[in-house]
Amino acid sequence: MKKLFAIFGNPVSHSRSPLMHNSVFKNLNYKACYTRVHLKDGTKLKETFFNLGLSGANITVPHKEEAYKACDEIRGFASKVGVVNTIINENGKLIGYNTDADGFMFAIKEFGDIKNILILGAGGTAKALSARFLQDNIKVSVINRSEGRLSYFKEIGCECFSWNTFRPKKYDLVVNTTSAGLKDEELPAPKEIIDSILENTNFVADAIYGKLTPFLKLAKNKNITFKDGADMLLGQGVLANELFVNSELNKEKIYKEMKKSFIL
Ligand code: NDP
Repeated sequence: MKKLFAIFGNPVSHSRSPLMHNSVFKNLNYKACYTRVHLKDGTKLKETFFNLGLSGANITVPHKEEAYKACDEIRGFASKVGVVNTIINENGKLIGYNTDADGFMFAIKEFGDIKNILILGAGGTAKALSARFLQDNIKVSVINRSEGRLSYFKEIGCECFSWNTFRPKKYDLVVNTTSAGLKDEELPAPKEIIDSILENTNFVADAIYGKLTPFLKLAKNKNITFKDGADMLLGQGVLANELFVNSELNKEKIYKEMKKSFIL
């Protein structure tokens, strides 16, 4: 029987995940299909998952923390951060994982030795990345629009700023994990803050993919080496697909087929 997988998000129409996973399933002859679900109310995740008869799913903005709550069991790195981007139906139980953080580590390999990172945003992605960076002894600073969301980051040992308290230092890498620029033309913070940040970093990355965000445009104008979220997407997707197929497919082959889907 064909298995069905999906991505849940709001918005979700921009997601390349169906293309990525279906390329793997089709080209490696795995009997499965992957679709997208526009989920407005995150608390309906579990109910919708089972109503659709899914074998597994990915979760994107803004439901990753709600996905953590919906799971019966959390495995691996996700339990450290309380954020889930991949769920598997294991005999009627929802098992939650996080593949974003390792996907991002894969994406920034080409920047070489990174010791000091500034994260813009304090949502689910920021949580996963900051905990993963700290695990590798990278110094992490976080700046977010709302101060209330910073307490998690303070607790785990990040230096935290709101827009009002921000003082830039020297960074090896600045990462935009806000959704500013995803469906609008906004910068992740007021222009003067972004300018001061870009004057103090060697590299820039954005979690958003498929478009040059206003943040990346500014980095490009200042001749800073930058990358969008495509490699992060690929990295997390390969790891999620491995979970979906329960290691029945070879990881190198999954990587190869999924990468091909990026030129479609
Ligand atoms: P969350 O909803 O959990 O967090 C969103 C964050 O963005 C919050 O810190 C929020 O600040 C901030 N924010 C939203 N709008 C603005 C704005 N206009 N100005 C400044 N800050 C803003 O989202 P996620 O962490 O799940 O995802 C964040 C982004 O990362 C999304 O664009 C998503 O598509 C992308 N992503 C890409 C991946 C990839 O594979 N490439 C993987 C995962 C995510 P506040 O607290 O003040 O509301």
